[in-house]
Amino acid sequence: MSAIDFMAEALAIKDEIIALRRKIHQYPEIGGTETETQRLVVDYLEALGVKTQKIADTGVLGLLEGSKPGGAVGLRADMDALKIQEQTGVPYASVRPGIMHACGHDCHTATLLGAARILAAHRENLPGNVKFFFQPDEEGDGGAERMIAAGGLENPKVTAMFGAHVNPGLPVGSIGVRPGKSYAASNPFEITIKGFGSHGAAPHLGVDAIAVACQVVSALQLCISRETDPVDSAIITVGTIQGGTQRNSIAEEVKMSGIIRTLGPATRQKIVAAARRVAEGTAHALGAQAEIVIHESYPGVVNDPAMTELARESIAELLGEDKVVPISVPNMGTEDFGIFLEHVPGSFYQAGVANPAKTPTVSLHSGQFNVDEDALPVMSAVHAKVAWDYLKGVSR
Ligand SMILES: [Zn+2]
Ligand SMILES: [Zn+2]
Repeated sequence: MSAIDFMAEALAIKDEIIALRRKIHQYPEIGGTETETQRLVVDYLEALGVKTQKIADTGVLGLLEGSKPGGAVGLRADMDALKIQEQTGVPYASVRPGIMHACGHDCHTATLLGAARILAAHRENLPGNVKFFFQPDEEGDGGAERMIAAGGLENPKVTAMFGAHVNPGLPVGSIGVRPGKSYAASNPFEITIKGFGSHGAAPHLGVDAIAVACQVVSALQLCISRETDPVDSAIITVGTIQGGTQRNSIAEEVKMSGIIRTLGPATRQKIVAAARRVAEGTAHALGAQAEIVIHESYPGVVNDPAMTELARESIAELLGEDKVVPISVPNMGTEDFGIFLEHVPGSFYQAGVANPAKTPTVSLHSGQFNVDEDALPVMSAVHAKVAWDYLKGVSR
C-alpha cells in the first residue's frame, strides 16, 4: 500500500482543479495557438517548483525532480480546443465564438496540473522524476511528434508514458483500461479523377469524371468488405466530393478527400495499398485517370500489456476494483498519444465523466459536450498514483 492518500489529497484541491478547468474552458485555443494556456501551465508549475521548458512552440515540458534517485516517468495532457460553437449555456462557456473545448482537453490539462501539485508536495519521498508533457495540437498536426523531436523524452530519459482521455460513455468515477490495440491509425487521402469534358448531350465524346468517381467510391468499400480480415477492422470514409461546373456538361474533374482508419500495422499497409490500386484501376478501366495521394498520419495507440496491468492495479488500489472498467473494443478514432508509445511503453486510459443527472450525455466534439467535474479529482489522483507506483517499481 502506498502511504500517500492520493484521493484525499486530490479532493482537498478539487475546487482549484475545477477553477483551472473552467478558466481553460472559457478561453479555448485551437491547436498551434495555445499561448495563454501555455502561460497558465508554466506559471502554475513554476509556483510548485517544477522546472518548465517551452517546447514545440506552444507546449510545455515540466520536470519534477524527486529527492530520491530513480527513473523518469512521463504523464501527458493535450491542451488544444476545436473549431466548434459551444452550446452548453454553462456560466464558464467559451467566450470565443466558434472555438470550444469539446474534446475535454481542458480537463486533461487541469487534472495534470492537479497531479503535479500532489506529487510536488511529496518530492522529498519521490523515487525519481516525473515529466509532465503539456502537449499542443493533438487535433491538428500532432504536437506529440514535435515534443519528441525536440528531445522531450530525453534528459532524464523517460521509460514509461501514461495519459488519459475523458470518455462520456463511462460513468463518472470509473477508469477504462485496455491492453493492446486501442485507437486506430489514420491515413488521410485526396483523390483527383481526371476525365474529359463534353456536351451533356454527347457523353460518348467525353469521359464522365462524376460517373467514374461514383464507381471509385463504391469500389473503395470493397477494400473493407473483401480485403480486410473480417475479425479486424478498417474504415474508408470519403468525406468530401466536388466536381463538375454545370448541369449540361460532362464533368472533366472530380476531387475527393477522406480518411483510411485501421487497427493493426499489417492491415494498415494492406488497405493503403488496396485503396490506391482500386482508385487507379477503377478509373483506368473506365477510361479516366485517378491521382491518389495518401498521407501518413497518427499511428494506432497500442497499450503495452505490462504497463496497462501496472496502471490497472494501481488504479484499482486507489478507486476499488469495481471502478476499473475493461474496455472491450478498440476505438476507431485516432489519438497522437500512440506516437509516444512508439518510443516508450505505456498506457492510455479513459476517464469516465458521464452523469446524466448533472449533464446530458453527448459525444466528444459536440457543441453540447460537458463533463461531471467530480471526475476531475479522480483523474488527478490516478495520474499521481500511477506515476508514483511506476517509479516505486523501477527503484525497487
Ligand atoms: Zn478530439
Ligand atoms: Zn481528444
